[in-house]
Amino acid sequence: MQVPAQFQYEKATSVEHALSLLGRYGAESRVVAGGHSLIPMMKLRLAQPEVLIDINDLHELARISVEEHKLCIGALVRHADLLGSAIAGEHFPIFHDAERLIADPIVRNRGTVGGSLCQADPSEDLSAAFAAVRGEAVIQGTRGSRVVAVRDFFVGPYQTVVEPGELLVQLRVPIRSSASAYQKVERRAGDWAVAAAGAELRLRDGELEEVGIGLTALGAPGFHAPEAEEFLVGGPATDERFAEAGRIAAEHCNPVADQRGPVDYKRHLAATLTTRALRIARTRWHGQHHEEA
Ligand SMILES: Cc1cc2nc3c(=O)[nH]c(=O)nc-3n(C[C@H](O)[C@H](O)[C@H](O)COP(=O)(O)OP(=O)(O)OC[C@H]3O[C@@H](n4cnc5c(N)ncnc54)[C@H](O)[C@@H]3O)c2cc1C
Repeated sequence: MQVPAQFQYEKATSVEHALSLLGRYGAESRVVAGGHSLIPMMKLRLAQPEVLIDINDLHELARISVEEHKLCIGALVRHADLLGSAIAGEHFPIFHDAERLIADPIVRNRGTVGGSLCQADPSEDLSAAFAAVRGEAVIQGTRGSRVVAVRDFFVGPYQTVVEPGELLVQLRVPIRSSASAYQKVERRAGDWAVAAAGAELRLRDGELEEVGIGLTALGAPGFHAPEAEEFLVGGPATDERFAEAGRIAAEHCNPVADQRGPVDYKRHLAATLTTRALRIARTRWHGQHHEEA
């Protein structure tokens, strides 16, 4: 049986307390939220923090709300809570689509939104969903908080802009008229993505006024597909143009071959899933706005 190396355990009672503990223990400490990524890494000795700072009592970070026309999702919101949130589903169905396909109920009951983004696993689903809808990450340190676009949050695989001593406290998404969807191919129910794509769009007078495309497990920098987005904006939302956007997304992403499939298969999925997510988002848009499909 694999066991983690010895570590000290601290339980934070408030955000300020968590930040002071992070300040006291420095780079040798790690925050633990759901623990579904960190604890397995500690068991494999891929992570060996000397101090674990448990943030599970920070109930102020476990809320989903609407404030100043933004959907606000606390970093400690569990996957199951985001999946069950009517307000999140109403404004951004992409989150329900993605959450339905993340792992299994055991992981979803414990794993958190903030932990998922901070883990920055290239196959992680919510990063692409937040990138598609142009979410913002609120990061807090002892000297105050800063807001970073989710598209700029990821430095590389397993690396984010959150500095030692800082805490991701909230994800926010400006609420506007839009429709969104997420599509994923997995080898079996509950598995990580072979590939996945999310899309958000808004139409005005028959033309695409805004488009966001997120990609998972496809090596897309920042989990999104700017070239495909740029191609689509300003033109009609036709099947042909969606297929071309899928082709562009596939051309510009950078998947790697692994046990889930070879590169050409993943590129094929990038094109197909991007096209499919765009089509579903368009159908949802017309459903909301009672326009002709
Ligand atoms: C069997 C299994 C299947 C899975 N399948 C999927 C899947 O299909 N799709 C998917 O997207 N994910 C999947 N996951 C990952 C799951 O979503 C985890 O919940 C997620 O990776 C990490 O969330 P956590 O709360 O458990 O984070 P933790 O393991 O507690 O932390 C992960 C990292 O983030 C840091 N951290 C956590 N919270 C904060 C914070 N607020 N501020 C700063 N740093 C923080 C920690 O220090 C650590 O470095 C799977 C996990 C398992 C175990």
